[in-house]
Amino acid sequence: MKRKLLFELSQEGRRGYKFPASDVPSCEKLPQHLQRQTSPILPELSELDVVRHYSALASLSFGVDLGAYPLGSCTMKYNPKLHNYVAALEGFANIHPLQDEKSVQGALEVIYKTTESLSAITGMAWGTLQPLAGAHGEYVGLKIIRAYHTSRGEDHRNKVIVPISAHGTNPASASMVGYSIVEVATNAKGLVDIEALKELLDDDIAAIMLTNPNTLGLFEEDIAEIATLVHGCGALLYYDGANLNAVLGISRPGDMGFDVVHLNLHKTFATPHGGGGPGSGPVLVKEALRPYLPTPDVVLTEEGYCWDWDRELSIGKVSGFWGNFLVYLKAYAYILTMGREGLKEASIHALLNANYMLSRLRGHFNVPYQERCMHEFVISVHDFKELYGVSALDFAKALQDYGYHPPTVYFPLIVSEALMFEPTESESKETLDGLIEALIELGELAKTDGDRLKEAPLTRPIKRIDEARAAKNPILRWKPKE
Ligand SMILES: *Cc1c(COP(=O)(O)O)cnc(C)c1O
Repeated sequence: MKRKLLFELSQEGRRGYKFPASDVPSCEKLPQHLQRQTSPILPELSELDVVRHYSALASLSFGVDLGAYPLGSCTMKYNPKLHNYVAALEGFANIHPLQDEKSVQGALEVIYKTTESLSAITGMAWGTLQPLAGAHGEYVGLKIIRAYHTSRGEDHRNKVIVPISAHGTNPASASMVGYSIVEVATNAKGLVDIEALKELLDDDIAAIMLTNPNTLGLFEEDIAEIATLVHGCGALLYYDGANLNAVLGISRPGDMGFDVVHLNLHKTFATPHGGGGPGSGPVLVKEALRPYLPTPDVVLTEEGYCWDWDRELSIGKVSGFWGNFLVYLKAYAYILTMGREGLKEASIHALLNANYMLSRLRGHFNVPYQERCMHEFVISVHDFKELYGVSALDFAKALQDYGYHPPTVYFPLIVSEALMFEPTESESKETLDGLIEALIELGELAKTDGDRLKEAPLTRPIKRIDEARAAKNPILRWKPKE
């Protein structure tokens, strides 16, 4: 059924609410040249029209609360509702960022203690909660690295090393900060090729950006040696912490030798990821980089918590006000709910779930690289493409008919026809078994009736879309017919 847009449902004169007649004098009108000449075109609807419209739309979209969402490199885990309740508490939700510090001591304490907790979890000295997304955190972290080199008279360091398997935001952020990108190869095990890295290390290198476990779901076991080599040439190590769900309470980027870390609270710490909702990408640094952190920093004095703007070497402010407060508040509530042991247990279950899936799928699909994985793994359906013309995209679309969100496809780029799964700790064995059996069934179907996969999804309101057209010719708003 084709749904109508709000504008198409509109009936002239229909209202959802009637204002009482004004009982105060009207204010002076804007000067003529500032007044609009025609009324804005807005849909006219009753409250029920609007409620039905949005409820119907909500029922069409898929989310973690509806079914498993094994989107690799994205950590779509269940976000306990308790933390939304905390974020909705009046004392947090109804304060203003410009309120006097004395009147928002509780909020400042949240900022202080969240920074403290995240520093402890990552093994770093201190940080900032201002960045609004993972990519924003990368940008801020690299600005800090740049400021560090500049203050030491080492501005000639103009290159950042990134592995070929890296998330696309890594090279993009480094280039936004003015660095050129040097790619380091991955070896046969799927890890950074140390010999190739040695060739690249020179006094023009500012930093290396890594995520550990990497985007193949593998732990970079030579990380200590990598850190020694990189520091040996005067460069720094940047940790993309979007994959922290694999290592919470088990290992810490600070201990691995990293100097700067960003986290995606909207993956690991109780805020859903995706859909363009509010995110939070805190940056944590080692002591030597602390002077360069953004201002203001929250400090605890004898009079209580307050903002400290007096940081000569700071890279300055990096977001409006103090970042997405309610998002990192949820992260703090989540950390307190879980506790040290709970966070560790979450990661252990995430690893167990991923390894369980991987080991059951191994006999049915090609698994490049992996012996054992961390929190996510990659399978390749390259053979199915060659033999039966059924692609990774076809598998992904067909999974929807079984009630599962598709995994990440065609990433990392070094695996042909890649399907990347991250089941997370939230899913039960029954759910994982269902997902595994659906995949095995689709594998069999691909051999006998490949067209069935090519037509999928059959059960969703929208079937296949022209993905290139959606990106190249986006229609983002309704316009009245000429
Ligand atoms: C999600 C992700 C990012 C980017 O985070 P955004 O909040 O989407 O900007 C960076 N690196 C990795 C490995 C990721 O998975």
